[in-house]
Amino acid sequence: MSEHEHRRAVGQVKEVTSLANPLVKDIKALALKKFRDQQHAFMAEGLKLVIDALDLGWQIRTLVFAKAGRGNPAVEKAAARTVAAGGTVLEVSEKVLSAITRRDNPQMVVGVFSQRFAALKDIRPKPGDVWVALDRVRDPGNLGTVLRTVDAVGARGVILVGDTTDPFAVETVRATMGSVFAVPVAKTTQGEFLAWRKGFSGIVAGTHLKGAVDYRSVDFSGRPVLLLMGNEQQGLPDELAASCDRLLRIPQAGRADSLNLAVATGVMLYEIRRDALTLEARP
Ligand code: SAM
Repeated sequence: MSEHEHRRAVGQVKEVTSLANPLVKDIKALALKKFRDQQHAFMAEGLKLVIDALDLGWQIRTLVFAKAGRGNPAVEKAAARTVAAGGTVLEVSEKVLSAITRRDNPQMVVGVFSQRFAALKDIRPKPGDVWVALDRVRDPGNLGTVLRTVDAVGARGVILVGDTTDPFAVETVRATMGSVFAVPVAKTTQGEFLAWRKGFSGIVAGTHLKGAVDYRSVDFSGRPVLLLMGNEQQGLPDELAASCDRLLRIPQAGRADSLNLAVATGVMLYEIRRDALTLEARP
């Protein structure tokens, strides 16, 4: 950061100690989906996450940092980048930061970013690409964990089908550990998904508790793969199940009827990406 940038950023920092401040009220409101939708924004906590998001080109609207962050070079650099991107920088009291994050020991930095969705029509997977479609996923922790796992295995992205939980909810963003910024997410209706699926040339692998095929017996190589996972309570509805090339099952012992959705997705993704992942390949 140049000296000029540094002074510019420091000069534009607003100090806020009141919970009644309208900027603070707007950020607090992002805890509710209604306001996230209205503002088309969401909140991410932690300096590393904010820096990663900036590096990946996400648009920052507001950077909030605790007084303790003053003079911290990494915080000041993030502040300068926020100002350069046309955003606002707020230095707030611990009390305000706790109220924004609804946590007793909040992270030192919070960023407010514009939401971003991929368009289904632009998703045209190539051989070797893996996408995950989630049918009506309800649980924010499950969705966040799936996004993190999709990122970890090098799959391309996630398609949310039907009425789902919000990928930009605070709990979901937390569970992604930053992967929300790395993994494209599209959302669509079941009808639009089925229409898009007709033009998909790869293998559509559904997972189902009544699946007749062991998930380890399928050759996923050489074609794009779409992994379709069912809703936590009801599993895949018949129409979606019928759209799959294969209905796969993960064998189970013991008393549990099924695996947790995010665990089942992880098991499947590691099988599908088995040959693509090595310990040496990480950049
Ligand atoms: N009661 C639901 C049902 O009858 O399908 C259980 C759904 S399970 C919690 C959520 C999703 O995880 C399932 O729809 C399926 O996609 C996947 N899943 C969980 N365990 C599985 C298994 N053993 N084999 C295949 N898929 C599984």
